[in-house]
Amino acid sequence: MASERLDKILSEAAGCSRKEAAAYIRGGKVTVGGKTVRDPSARIDPGSDELCLNGQVKKLIRNVVYMLNKPEGILTATEDPSEKTVLDLIRPEDRPKSLFPAGRLDKDVTGLVLLTDDGTYCHRVISPRSRIYKTYEALVEGQPDENDIQAVRKGLILSDGEACLPGLLTVLKSGPRSLCQLMICEGKYHQVKRMMASFGKPVLQLRRTAIGGLVLDPALSQGEYRALDLTERELVFKGSDPFDDRTS
Ligand code: URA
Repeated sequence: MASERLDKILSEAAGCSRKEAAAYIRGGKVTVGGKTVRDPSARIDPGSDELCLNGQVKKLIRNVVYMLNKPEGILTATEDPSEKTVLDLIRPEDRPKSLFPAGRLDKDVTGLVLLTDDGTYCHRVISPRSRIYKTYEALVEGQPDENDIQAVRKGLILSDGEACLPGLLTVLKSGPRSLCQLMICEGKYHQVKRMMASFGKPVLQLRRTAIGGLVLDPALSQGEYRALDLTERELVFKGSDPFDDRTS
């Protein structure tokens, strides 16, 4: 079960510093599920354990992470003087003071965008060091051949000389216009469009379907969003590397 440090949870819930929270805990003033806990590093499940400070129940203030199914024509930005942004899709009552997208999609690209007010989580998601694979479905003109697939697998060099890390390209539906899946772990400018264009298969439509092991909820129509629980938030960092069991 997903859990967090007690001193962190208490400091958020009681609006005090981590140091103060730790002092309350060591002083025996904090109960979790009715039992006194004196270890600030104890891990508790904020979803189910009742937390009390000096006998008073504390409402847990939690950061939010939303999964949004972004429609076409919307900017992935926090504000814009003339265009609608992903934040305009979030109901005012669901909007904490600061909410920002963790990663970007182009205006004409649809699919999974994460929004959060948790700076640490956002950093983990977007940091190139995390090497999170994002999965895209692209409708392209023409059909990638085995050479294209292998070139992506080795690490494509784009037409301007920029090198891409290895990715996994799969043809899902063949035809004069084919549906492809591309998994990449970077976020270069227009990366999928540039990769596909580099071997003459321009992208006609693009949709992001997953970030790491977190798959866009098929129940969400375009423009809809929902909050992620702690377990779902961590899926982003799990089980997404398509080369994990590569044997050669
Ligand atoms: N690749 C693109 O070309 N555009 C996006 O929005 C994301 C990946």
